[in-house]
Amino acid sequence: MAARIISGTEISAKRLDRLTERVTKLKAAGVTPGLAVVIVGEDPASQVYVRNKEKACARVGIFSEKIELSTSATQDELLAVVAMLNARTDIDGVLVQFPLPDHLNEDEVIEAISVDKDVDGFHPESIGRLVVGKETFVSCTPAGVMVLLEESGVVLEGKNVVVVGRSHNVGKPAALLCLEKNATVTICHSRTEDLAGHVGSAEVLIVAVGRPEMIKGQWIREGAVVIDVGINRLADGRLVGDVEFEEASKRASAITPVPGGVGPMTVAMLIENTVHAAVRHAGIT
Ligand code: NDP
Repeated sequence: MAARIISGTEISAKRLDRLTERVTKLKAAGVTPGLAVVIVGEDPASQVYVRNKEKACARVGIFSEKIELSTSATQDELLAVVAMLNARTDIDGVLVQFPLPDHLNEDEVIEAISVDKDVDGFHPESIGRLVVGKETFVSCTPAGVMVLLEESGVVLEGKNVVVVGRSHNVGKPAALLCLEKNATVTICHSRTEDLAGHVGSAEVLIVAVGRPEMIKGQWIREGAVVIDVGINRLADGRLVGDVEFEEASKRASAITPVPGGVGPMTVAMLIENTVHAAVRHAGIT
């Protein structure tokens, strides 16, 4: 039987509608959430991502400001912008769009962002709080993965979850979040032996690698739920995920498409984090 499609487009739209209602009430109470997005250079993909974030802010009615720096901006100039945004009371969330040009140090920039404005959830303190199960800003993509699973009625407790990819911003936090939900979690990476065997054991499979269709449909366990985080543009212009969608759909019980799966959730969770930051800054419980 063909897999049920988990539509990030639909689930994120519902989430943004709910956030719009929340923001309307907050504004009536004198609180306007604000997000600052810093972009350095002209990378076309980054420009598209930033535009999508600005559109989502406008949709829910939160204030957004884009700060553009030239490709030749220095580390000190970038850090000065971050410090200025940390200090501004009308800004609740600060996001620096990555990747940065090679001469800039991303780690130092991440650590310069105030933890209470770290709506991307990349700061080591935010990640550390996640490790110890404390409330924190969760990185937007794995947070979106969890919402997709929850909204699709997938119960993780006791399930075998396999996460392929161990990046700080996607794979590791996704694994930790599943562990918090009492799943039994396996993390695979580039040195994993018998990847197909691990994938075949997954009742829930989360893939964040960045290699087009590397997870073969035949590897998928019958009835598994498949969340494909990967976004890869092929030479012919098509966007595909890290999973062979057509073949995987024949075996999975539910699967996210690419595009229209995890991607739209990432933006929705950024807006949600920004609204939470504003609520905290305003001292509303
Ligand atoms: P990274 O490049 O940071 O991490 C990729 C991970 O994949 C690494 O842990 C790497 O292992 C692992 N890997 C690489 N090759 C293999 C292999 N042959 N077998 C098993 N594991 C392998 O990527 P990200 O986590 O940032 O992103 C992953 C994908 O998700 C990309 O396609 C990206 O575009 C997409 N993405 C999508 C988002 C969305 O909104 N939908 C947001 C963020 C990312 P090792 O650690 O050993 O090197």
